[in-house]
Amino acid sequence: MLSRLRRRRPDASATTFGLVLMYHGIGEVDMDPWGLFVSPANFEAHLEVLNRTARPLALPALVSAAGGVSTHGNGGQPAVAVTSDDGYANIAATAKPLLERHDIPATLFAISAPLTEGGEYWWDELEAIILQPGTLPDHLDIEDAGHHLSMPLDAATTYTPAQRRVDHRFRDGDRPGARMALYLRLWAELRDIGHTARRRLLDRLWDWAGGPLAPRESHRNLTIEELTALDGELVTIGGHTMTHPLLPEISFRRQRREIIDNKRHLESILNRPVDVFSYPFGAHSNETVAAARSAGYHVAVTTRPTPVTDTTDGLRIGRFDVKNWDGDEFARRLDEWWRP
Ligand SMILES: [Zn+2]
Repeated sequence: MLSRLRRRRPDASATTFGLVLMYHGIGEVDMDPWGLFVSPANFEAHLEVLNRTARPLALPALVSAAGGVSTHGNGGQPAVAVTSDDGYANIAATAKPLLERHDIPATLFAISAPLTEGGEYWWDELEAIILQPGTLPDHLDIEDAGHHLSMPLDAATTYTPAQRRVDHRFRDGDRPGARMALYLRLWAELRDIGHTARRRLLDRLWDWAGGPLAPRESHRNLTIEELTALDGELVTIGGHTMTHPLLPEISFRRQRREIIDNKRHLESILNRPVDVFSYPFGAHSNETVAAARSAGYHVAVTTRPTPVTDTTDGLRIGRFDVKNWDGDEFARRLDEWWRP
């Protein structure tokens, strides 16, 4: 990303070059506590806005072009790279045909474990267990894999379709109802434990709740075959660790393993080098960045909403989280990000 044309400037006067957008799933869902899904109609409207008001580029092209920029400024159109994290199956089924129709490149950051295990991501599975209308036992008491989940449910015991419809509008930061509060509490408990222990606790939670239900088509993970078919000229696959841990919370050795094993796994599936990486939850310490670098990455994205400038560190590229907005709202946000 360095170029002889590049002029060195302090950050305050860095030349803003472009924006990297972050999506997750593309689909219609009736419960989305983390705002991870954008409807296909809204996604297509976003792509139309991008072709009208921006210069869509693949992430690696945007990063290398930004390093060589010397004359672009805030007056021009932003270069914009579309990215999607995690690897929802709807990226292959729904997003890819829309990207092709509008000829817009994208990067998908894939987690290895779900590719081989199938099913849904753990946060969606937990939503399927907890946020379904019905009655749950009035107490949760599960002990497995060295972890103990114990709490009375109180007002969260019953959950009506009407309460679920209210929770459909819940967004991170809102005051949660009783069942949503239970979901968020369990989410926090499960986030920071290892992949194997989490799987065991989820199985126990299914038993406790009277499950398990089959994975939902709207939420399921990509299969290896779907990932292979997705990788090509328009969609590039990047790394997103083996099991999606909060990297700064684990040892440097384990961070390296999570990053390197995922890179090798994807490279063996795709039969080509995997060059770009996304930190799970956007979480990265200096040590995490060093681990990504030692794994061979030169481009890695965070979730810090900052534009790409000619002085951006290639291993700390900011991204803007795109929500389920219509085209007008998306265009307004894009403009705001571009001209703060
Ligand atoms: Zn992720």
